[in-house]
Amino acid sequence: MAPFPEQEPMTIKRIEVALKKRDWTLFRQGIIKINSMYESGTKWSDAEAWQNLMNQAESEYIPPDLWEEFSKITKNIINSIDNSVQISLLPAFQEDKKASNKYQGKVVIFYNKEINSDQIAAIKKHNVTLNNFIYNSSKYAPEPEWFEDLSKLINNLDKPNNDMTDLLSLISLFENPGTIVTSSYDTDIIKNFAKSYIDFYIPEIKQSYEAENYWNIYPLGGLSCSYICSACGYKFLQTEFTSKTIVGSCSKCAGTTYPYIRDVNSETAEVNPKIWIGAYKKLSESSDWILINPPAYSEKPVISDLLEESAVNVKKVYIVTPSFEVSEWWKNKLLKILPDVEIINNFSNISSLVNKLKNDSMPDEKEAENFSLVGL
Ligand SMILES: [Zn+2]
Repeated sequence: MAPFPEQEPMTIKRIEVALKKRDWTLFRQGIIKINSMYESGTKWSDAEAWQNLMNQAESEYIPPDLWEEFSKITKNIINSIDNSVQISLLPAFQEDKKASNKYQGKVVIFYNKEINSDQIAAIKKHNVTLNNFIYNSSKYAPEPEWFEDLSKLINNLDKPNNDMTDLLSLISLFENPGTIVTSSYDTDIIKNFAKSYIDFYIPEIKQSYEAENYWNIYPLGGLSCSYICSACGYKFLQTEFTSKTIVGSCSKCAGTTYPYIRDVNSETAEVNPKIWIGAYKKLSESSDWILINPPAYSEKPVISDLLEESAVNVKKVYIVTPSFEVSEWWKNKLLKILPDVEIINNFSNISSLVNKLKNDSMPDEKEAENFSLVGL
């Protein structure tokens, strides 16, 4: 009797267990099983589960030969599902993926999100306790309500953000992956990238799969799904988005892990140097900026400084904000630093910018069509 064929969830589960136990023999067996199922023409269906598995595997230290084999086969599986069920892509990205005439430059998109003083205070309070854990763990016990406050804070920072679908439409207009620098802590940005199978890299927190074809994301204060181990300092991205667990166990040393978020909004901002230096580098190298909701006047002084200091090579800046005054204020500020910079600042929201960029690309699109006809 032929053995009953293995089902996809079982195949995924085996790898998950191997990762959890750091059992590389089981992991290797899991890859052999995936390969044999792949070769026998198994139809895979759960792209999200494979993507989660990939993300989980990325935050582990896997022996390089196993990683290479695993990432290759998993990418193939995800691509095969991607091609057969396009519908799983977010509508905004799917639609714009078809656009033939895309922008060529390496854009930097700066996205700023409002935050209130209670949230800033809660982030600071969380970090005081976290620092006590890290530097003084034997003497320090947290107050019970700290966990409750932390849980409230994470939920509060992670409210659904409608801008994110428009942001996805915006990035799909660019041929080459660029950079996103953001003060927002919310997880939606990562979720949307993962759902649309757009590869991305975050310094220290998330590796990329591809050698070149990925977006750089610099979350200036971290994300509500970024975590740090209080014992060994290991940082990672929690990609099981449905999980409500805010305190976990480190996969390297079994130490306790906590949300890794910092206040970047007040005068006394605390920054992660790798993220900030990376953001500065990308901003200062780029010739095209899109500033979405840049901070007004004296708000968020450290973030405003970052933008001013990195206005070095930028030639063209799109400013998106519902406030005319803020828009003019940034225009004047940038023109003082770089008198030749071109500022296009009549956008009150992201979708009006998306429409403008799409319309701009229309004449060229016709040229491209004619060109291909001549080619025939
Ligand atoms: Zn650890």
